[in-house]
Amino acid sequence: MITVIGSINMDIAIRTDVFPKQGETVLGNLFTTIPGGKGANQAVAAARLGSQVQMVGAVGQDAFGNELYFNLKNENINVGGIEKTNNSTGIANILLHDNDNRIIVVPGANFDLDQQMIERHMDLIKQSSLVILQLEIPVETIDFVLDVCVKLSIPVLLNPAPAANYKPEWIEKVTYLTPNETECEQIFGTDYETVLKQYPNKLIVTLGGEGAAYFDGTKLVNVPGYKTKALDTTGAGDTFNGAFAHAITAGKTIEAAVQFANIAASLSVEKFGAQGGMPQIEKVNERLE
Ligand code: ADP
Repeated sequence: MITVIGSINMDIAIRTDVFPKQGETVLGNLFTTIPGGKGANQAVAAARLGSQVQMVGAVGQDAFGNELYFNLKNENINVGGIEKTNNSTGIANILLHDNDNRIIVVPGANFDLDQQMIERHMDLIKQSSLVILQLEIPVETIDFVLDVCVKLSIPVLLNPAPAANYKPEWIEKVTYLTPNETECEQIFGTDYETVLKQYPNKLIVTLGGEGAAYFDGTKLVNVPGYKTKALDTTGAGDTFNGAFAHAITAGKTIEAAVQFANIAASLSVEKFGAQGGMPQIEKVNERLE
């Protein structure tokens, strides 16, 4: 059983030919709402591959909250740990113009995910063979969950994104830390190859189309990405994390789990939207052969 404790957002995307200047109104030409939030995305990625997944998170008592709740339920995720609070559902307002974007995130209900809420869902956490965390919920909640998991000897995969919220002491409490290359440099202040050696079989750095790398105690292991034509890389990291969690809890080695996650993520970048391209297990197995 995988438990994801994290964010649930609605991504509100608007495409426009011009960004409005201060005080100006312009006409846009496309509007879509797409379920997102790193927590929800990673839960969906693992569930599509056949893992049993439960989610602990918070949405508002509004239309988006309802939609996101049922979106996760329809993905066969146990939504018993999702609470509806008095805040608005978390949103990301994404303005798209050519290849440029401007994004405003309003965390809303995601910031209501506090220690008390975790305590109310301790039964779910206790059943977990792996807990997955990202950094779009309050840092105090991460602190608390990590202490609980250390005490109960439950492995934790921490995806340190956004990296600005990361606390250095967490590395000792987690089983896997999975930054991308930029996040890795932000966190450790040096190139990833140097720092990998300090955290064997724990630090796994994703490298976009190049795949991912870790240190196995003796040598640096570079697991190459699956070559494909990327259409939309939104959610590539989330697919990687959900798929890695699926594979590692199914008993694969780190190397095999990274290879599996690379393939799942390569399938996800071939389609639009974070959750849109997340594959079912059959598709991954076809590419693994
Ligand atoms: P993030 O999405 O968090 O920025 P990365 O860009 O490192 O993280 O991508 C995560 C994973 O997605 C990579 O390790 C790789 O497996 C896969 N991936 C990303 N971009 C591509 C691509 N262009 N082609 C194939 N796989 C990709």
